[in-house]
Amino acid sequence: MSWEMVIGLETHVELSTKTKIFCSCTTKFGGEPNTHCCPVCTGQPGSLPVLNQTVVEYAAKAGLALNCEISLKSIMARKHYVYPDLSKAYQISQFEKPLCEGGYVELSNGKRINLTRIHIEEDAGKLVHQGNTVMIDYNRGGVPLIEIVSEPDIRSAEEATEYLEKLQIIMRAVRVSDCRMQEGSMRCDVNISLRQKGETQFGTRSEIKNLNSFTSVAAAIAYEFERQAELLESGGRVVQETRNFDADTGMTSSMRSKENADDYRYFTDPDIVPVVISQERFETLKNSLPEMPDKKCKRYVEELGIAEADAKLLTKYHKVSAYFEEASKDCENPKTIATFMITQMFSLITTESERENWSPTVTAAQMNELMKLLESGKINRNLTKRVFTQMLESGKPAGDFLSEKDLAGFDDSELEALCRAAVAENPKSVSDYQSGKEKAIKALVGAVMRQSKGRANALEAEEKLKAIIAE
Ligand code: ADP
Ligand code: MG
Ligand code: ZN
Repeated sequence: MSWEMVIGLETHVELSTKTKIFCSCTTKFGGEPNTHCCPVCTGQPGSLPVLNQTVVEYAAKAGLALNCEISLKSIMARKHYVYPDLSKAYQISQFEKPLCEGGYVELSNGKRINLTRIHIEEDAGKLVHQGNTVMIDYNRGGVPLIEIVSEPDIRSAEEATEYLEKLQIIMRAVRVSDCRMQEGSMRCDVNISLRQKGETQFGTRSEIKNLNSFTSVAAAIAYEFERQAELLESGGRVVQETRNFDADTGMTSSMRSKENADDYRYFTDPDIVPVVISQERFETLKNSLPEMPDKKCKRYVEELGIAEADAKLLTKYHKVSAYFEEASKDCENPKTIATFMITQMFSLITTESERENWSPTVTAAQMNELMKLLESGKINRNLTKRVFTQMLESGKPAGDFLSEKDLAGFDDSELEALCRAAVAENPKSVSDYQSGKEKAIKALVGAVMRQSKGRANALEAEEKLKAIIAE
């Protein structure tokens, strides 16, 4: 039988505010267990939550970046459940009136994955299992989150991972979250059901909780697809339930049957006034949004002539694109700088986190200075590369590695002398060239380049050599 998968994702993104959502405890990742806590975030009797305004602004920025409708007035609600990671036995979230509705993420093939809503909520603590003991660390409790709920528009594991990658890039670009899946600041629940190709009704879904890497998301989808297909083909039914994914075995297993919204006994939190954003504040937020990565990528390709793959790499990390823009400021050919960054810098910085935290020893201003020397013809490409290596090792500016002779360029009489010497010392290459072996000239150019220690211009040397041989 031919099955189609239908997927909707619920993605939790931790907001990178300095303090928690309802108290002034730090949101820093890690730390000794239970040291980032206070009576408010652990829900002690008599404590009262006060909503952090930066959380509202970050959540609204996220919504604007994802093309949502923003409600200038939304409501915080209590969602009740009993589990040790939640000391109050309810989580403060949003239900009937979330901050953001609608919106979409556009995939590279132009398909839009629509969003249902984005709401604000608090994170829960973490259970730590050690042998037969379970301990609880509340450091993460009360860290602000947004939950981004997609419509069931996703049809494959590839679309799911591209959607998540786009979300990550956009959230980082508007600086509301670092979205590090390995640290849990971005996690995702996969809702998946199967139906016959051509069928318009949705099937019954299962929900796989708390996936914390792109590979886990893809693996969980592949496993669930097989499991549900087998079940349906053998005449069984999918039950609506919550499942766990085990990254070691690549399998999912049943956790609990699915709660309904009713079970959570949602109601408006009486301790928190409605969340209001003034029209004026809203306009300011809207105008403060940076250029979105997709748009920036398109501009690099169309206006700067940068190859699409390179433009994608440069715009994937906002620190990299900021560096590129400063390094190419007032330069005639930004494309040269893009190529230089990719060939000379990206090749050295290989891990995702190094790229994300892009902070090379050569500052963008130093790079700008070096690139202007190259553009003005004062130094050639080889010398630029050599100087750049020295700059990277030392963190010192280009000027420290260039003598006055280097900067004076390579004068014609010096080039002429080196070319004549090369011709005199390599009679075999000269006769090869004269007998029609075009390539033999390259050996002579190589000799000139070596003698000049890379300062000569290879094209000029070739012309000069040909002229001398023709004399
Ligand atoms: P809940 O909040 O109880 O998990 P929702 O109705 O809010 O349930 O849906 C949560 C997610 O499940 C959404 O991302 C939605 O797109 C997705 N979803 C809903 N129905 C289906 C289905 N039949 N198959 C796959 N995904 C679904
Ligand atoms: Mg859910
Ligand atoms: Zn606290």
